Amino acid sequence: MRAVTTTARSLGAPSPGAAGDLQVSPTPLALLLLGREADPASERGVDCPGDLPAPSDPDLVERARAALAELGDRAFVLGHHYQRDEIIQFADVTGDSFKLARDAAARPQAEFIVFCGVHFMAESADILTSDAQQVILPDLAAGCSMADMASAEQVAEAWDVLKDAGVAQDTVPVTYMNSSADIKAFTGRHGGTVCTSSNARRALEWAFGQREEGRGKVLFLPDQHLGRNTAVRELGLSLEDCVVYNPHRPGGGLSEEQLRRARMILWRGHCSVHGRFSLDSVAEVRARIPGVNVLVHPECRHEVVAAADHVGSTEHIIKLLDAAPAGSKWAVGTELNLVRRLARRYANQGEQSKEIVFLDRTVCFCSTMNRIDLPHLVWSLESLVRGTVVNRIHVEEETAHYASLALDRMLALP
Ligand code: SF4
Repeated sequence: MRAVTTTARSLGAPSPGAAGDLQVSPTPLALLLLGREADPASERGVDCPGDLPAPSDPDLVERARAALAELGDRAFVLGHHYQRDEIIQFADVTGDSFKLARDAAARPQAEFIVFCGVHFMAESADILTSDAQQVILPDLAAGCSMADMASAEQVAEAWDVLKDAGVAQDTVPVTYMNSSADIKAFTGRHGGTVCTSSNARRALEWAFGQREEGRGKVLFLPDQHLGRNTAVRELGLSLEDCVVYNPHRPGGGLSEEQLRRARMILWRGHCSVHGRFSLDSVAEVRARIPGVNVLVHPECRHEVVAAADHVGSTEHIIKLLDAAPAGSKWAVGTELNLVRRLARRYANQGEQSKEIVFLDRTVCFCSTMNRIDLPHLVWSLESLVRGTVVNRIHVEEETAHYASLALDRMLALP
């Protein structure tokens, strides 16, 4: 099978003066807030304090290679699947957020983990790696609008609402990896687990199994769509078993009776990328490409998932397309950088080609993932070469302890 998750970085010879003498330009702005009701406090995006090389600098690729050659095994570069090609070319490994965090933990000799992804991913990597390793996010403004939609204060308030309704003792919190360390710690403190889009079903089965048959509830954070899709499609619950807790309304906008009857209490959060795909996108592509297979991520809305032919995590999407027969046609509903790379990989191979298109006609990059660009990568690497650690992501001890409890429960899932 084609190796699809690992990209070896090619290291060139160091160029003279690569670590210094930057052509500097002012640092671009602060956190780019995405999605509605984002909470700037929860993901702590701040502006980058350093001076960056100009994006137009034609030597950026050479400078990144030179800095990596200088750092050698001391630096390990992780590239999330949704990163731009200009970044992915320097990744030692590529993958989804959880795979990358585990890859980092499996590389203890790497002093610096350069995480080309978003803030919550770098936090998870910091929690899972040793104290001797430092995790660096090249641009601190690379947050996640979904993770921003659940702050620690809001979730603590929601738990009080559940207590007042007399249902907290029946409820097990489950949080998606795409959440801040604070939310993972909340989940760990309250006997819950973390899940990924690959193991959400097992996580829910485990959570319901923690309570007496028929009595258990799950508070699912922060992506309502992954929670609903997993509960309804994979566990056989009904849409009526699910309620949506809106942190911006008193009591979550739910009555005590609604909370008592619900099995799934879904946090009102969503991904601003996957939430854009619609039934119209599916109908349009089916009309345009007869015989097309529609393949979407479970962060898409329930009606889109119901109308698709296949549903799966990013890693599942990559594997499914790899195994797809030659000549097959696919419309894929996930982040555009990844879909474009996959489309190029399987195009122009004669009879072995597979046609892969983006599900929607409009552009759908993840803006915060795209904050990581070559100037930021070069700046962070060259700073490390000079002995300065920039943009370190460090989760304080108590939060890391409780977040680890939740992550460990996930790792122990059957
Ligand atoms: S694709 Fe969605 S969930 Fe992933 S980082 Fe971007 S906004 Fe967050």
